[in-house]
Amino acid sequence: MDQTLEAPARAQLRHDELVKEIRAHDYRYYVLDDPSITDAEYDALMVELRGLEERHPELVTPDSPTQRVGGEARALVTKVQHEVRMYSLDNAYSAVEMAEWNRRMVTSGLRDGDVPSFTVEPKLDGASIEVVYDGGRLVLASTRGDGVFGEEITANVRTIRGVPARIPFTDKLTLRGEVVIYRKDLAALNTERIGAGLEPFANPRNAAAGALRLLDHREVAKRPLRVVFYQVVEGAKVAPTHGETLDWLAAQGLPTHRRHEVLLWVGVMDAIARIDRSRGDYPFETDGAVVKVDAYRQQDVLGATSKFPKWAIAYKFPAERAVTRVNEIVVQVGRTGALTPVAIMDGVELGGTIVSRASLHNGDQIRELDVNVGDRVVIQKAGEIIPQVVAVAERSRPPGSAPFEMPSACPACGTPVVSRLREAGKPELGAEATVRCPNRECPAQVMGRILYFASRPAMAIDKLGESLVLQLTRTGLVKDVADLYDLDEAKLTGLERMGKKSAENVRAAIEGSRERTLDRLIGGLGIPGIGQVAGRQLAEVAETLPNLLSWSEAEAREKVGSIHGFGAKMVDAVVAFLNDPEERRVLEKLRDRGVGRPQPIHVVAASGPLAGKSFCVTGVLTRKREEVHALLRSAGATVHDSVKKDTTYLVAGDKTGKTKLDQARKFGAKIVSEEEMDALVAGAV
Ligand code: AMP
Ligand code: ZN
Repeated sequence: MDQTLEAPARAQLRHDELVKEIRAHDYRYYVLDDPSITDAEYDALMVELRGLEERHPELVTPDSPTQRVGGEARALVTKVQHEVRMYSLDNAYSAVEMAEWNRRMVTSGLRDGDVPSFTVEPKLDGASIEVVYDGGRLVLASTRGDGVFGEEITANVRTIRGVPARIPFTDKLTLRGEVVIYRKDLAALNTERIGAGLEPFANPRNAAAGALRLLDHREVAKRPLRVVFYQVVEGAKVAPTHGETLDWLAAQGLPTHRRHEVLLWVGVMDAIARIDRSRGDYPFETDGAVVKVDAYRQQDVLGATSKFPKWAIAYKFPAERAVTRVNEIVVQVGRTGALTPVAIMDGVELGGTIVSRASLHNGDQIRELDVNVGDRVVIQKAGEIIPQVVAVAERSRPPGSAPFEMPSACPACGTPVVSRLREAGKPELGAEATVRCPNRECPAQVMGRILYFASRPAMAIDKLGESLVLQLTRTGLVKDVADLYDLDEAKLTGLERMGKKSAENVRAAIEGSRERTLDRLIGGLGIPGIGQVAGRQLAEVAETLPNLLSWSEAEAREKVGSIHGFGAKMVDAVVAFLNDPEERRVLEKLRDRGVGRPQPIHVVAASGPLAGKSFCVTGVLTRKREEVHALLRSAGATVHDSVKKDTTYLVAGDKTGKTKLDQARKFGAKIVSEEEMDALVAGAV
């Protein structure tokens, strides 16, 4: 098409189309985090739009996507006064402090009986900003500053593609939000910075805060910034509660965390724990949970101190990431023979303990992260698991360092390693994933199996620490877990640094473990896929170790296959374990030594008045929750912790959370009181 012949009307039409399309892609990419086109396709749309606007300058509007980076760099910093002060948040670090906060509100703020609901939401770890929309357009953005005066950063915030230039709502609207950098974006940003000879950012917060205050917004546009809005200043204009306001914001196309829950006080700590558990999967960094009184009416009654609102509090999680230097990479061999590279680092505090080792998973992971000795790395602790290296903060290895290579022989026994892929009969596609030592007698594996067997959830032999197990396996006194029960004081006192008293203690601890029930013994064997819960189910079917060993293969298949929730993989793993001559020999030794008490079977009444019915119990009842569960089970019912599709009854005690009630309504479960439940158990209804 000859461009000079581009009809103005057609140009206008195409312009409108392009703007709409680009905005929709911005929304998908930055707000929903779910792009539907590639970056190259997006760039092509922008190139077309720019071309069109060059030929038809009359089409350029201030809120066109091309104008996000329009204009000149600002020369100075302008202050703006926040219409409503930007408070910080009161902090709590424990359930006790949370309860105190609630009590203060209820006793000295709200009227008797004016019971509040709460929103619980993630506390984003970034830099806070205020954004004002008027007439549906973004008109002003500022930093928090000292809470009264902030820095004007409108041009900078306009460059952030997730912040819509226009929204449907046309009244004045003042929003509070957090500028963040997603974790995955920080990694890429740091690599780029290092390539350019710049210091990498230690965390997303520093990167975001620094970017926001840059004078040249064209530089800001190069940073992968996002905004997550968490509050509306004059929210009561759009909804009566904070929770509904957050939903409303999302409906306006504004980015929000979309992860809030509304509940009564009883549910708050659980909701916080849920955020703590899932935050590793959030794309943004979360350093706590913010709990807010949900109704604006009650927020207004409560008011603020000189520093923070009384209606909100931040529950802070202990810091879970840290940066430190790698001094060495060693390779450990675990109980299954898997070789795991481990970074030995300068000690650093992480979640309350000093950490100096972190897992690097496998050779592929090391290559992917490009970690080497001398680098400064970001380590992270997820729950109870050992810390992991998640990123390189600074590639400060000595120049010319060779990349780390996984060994081709087991560092503990020298046997050549095998890769999972090769074992599975698949050609090696250059990917090694996990490599393992195939030698079952490998001292590292024997030691790993014994430590696992002795661990708390399994046989709980407290006195069997790592150094003692090392001695026991090195001296050949213990070759498998059953050998533990043959240790007498004479053998033990023969060990280095083992007095008579400690030998007695060790022996007593081992003897005591004979009393553990079969489920714990099974759980301690390390059968792939069979943890504590499955171990218990298997133990309930077998009842005793002699029984388990008496099964033929066909019997085992049938019995194990009938266990609720056991898939084909688990059945195969159990059958293979029982068939393996070496594993069998150890089980027989355990049996002959009388280890493992018969499994007590809790009777499931298959008949009973509530057979086939499923219950969820919630709220505060007159009896203990466990007692109620046992009562229901004795009447033939099944009990679950949450309301599901097939839940028949929700037993709702005092202070039942709104979420549970909503779920019950959604899934059509009948809501009953404790009294009504008793009548059901008695078969009276
Ligand atoms: P602090 O910086 O410890 O005083 O905590 C207060 C800051 O937490 C606020 O200024 C906000 O920037 C930030 N924040 C992050 N997420 C939220 C949220 N969901 N609700 C309220 N404030 C939040
Ligand atoms: Zn080995």
